[in-house]
Amino acid sequence: MMRNAAFAFVLLIAGTLHAAAQPAPAWTADIKDIRQVAGLLPGAKPLRINVLKFAESRRTKNFSVKGAPKDPSIQARTAFQVVYRDGTIMVDSGMDLQVHKFFGRGVEEPYFPDQAKEVERAVRAARMIVMTHEHGDHVAGVIRTPLFAELTPKTVLTRTQVHTLMTEPQMPEIKLTAEQAQHFIVIDYDKYYPIAPGMALIKSPGHTPGSQMVYIALESGKEYVLAGDVAWHMDGVRTVTGKDAPWITEDEPAIQGELTFLNGLMRNEKNVTVVLSHDEEQRNDYIKQKLLGDHLE
Ligand SMILES: [Zn+2]
Repeated sequence: MMRNAAFAFVLLIAGTLHAAAQPAPAWTADIKDIRQVAGLLPGAKPLRINVLKFAESRRTKNFSVKGAPKDPSIQARTAFQVVYRDGTIMVDSGMDLQVHKFFGRGVEEPYFPDQAKEVERAVRAARMIVMTHEHGDHVAGVIRTPLFAELTPKTVLTRTQVHTLMTEPQMPEIKLTAEQAQHFIVIDYDKYYPIAPGMALIKSPGHTPGSQMVYIALESGKEYVLAGDVAWHMDGVRTVTGKDAPWITEDEPAIQGELTFLNGLMRNEKNVTVVLSHDEEQRNDYIKQKLLGDHLE
């Protein structure tokens, strides 16, 4: 009996040591902490969120989700508008035709000039602009534009986003000089940042060094996480599977952590809607369910 107890004790110690030896996950986040940060700034919460598609890329699904069949799939190029009673905040800023052509890599892909104009109008009207990450299809709208001087004083970039844009831009067209970088509002934070009433940024390096997700709690009580390009298709979130796109380099352990977080939200937080930037099926679905508005105000 004594020997059994001693043996059990040894097993227990071994188990504890084993648990302690597990490497810490590369990335974690806690929705309770995010909600608390999003509630820090006084003021009325936003009323609704709109999305607009201004271009498309055609990529088979295996690029978006590793191991998926090579089924045809549409990647929507989008920008989001968070609507408050007294103004709007844009999440991402669209891109011009030339940057769009870079993504096609020689293949002509759909670009919708009327919608792109709408994004430009909404970006001009916005009180503030924040970016999910520093790739051309998200930031070019404030960089490659004759409106640069007008837009930059209300555009918030993170220190890391600026660093990438200055030193390793995705394409030469969006490279920032040190002088240009000074026109932006540049912030730095470790984990979460209260950007506006009901809104928090969630630092999420992985797809790019400067990637972040945007948590939004509406006045109605509905909650959203705009997850940018953490995944390109929700199947990646559902199955916690990363991309398989040779033209990008991601921090894969961090992406795994982020996909695990989003997957947990999907399963356990029925009030939270996870929104990806490029999932065309999801965009259509959410518009149909009235979770997102289908035009910019
Ligand atoms: Zn993107």
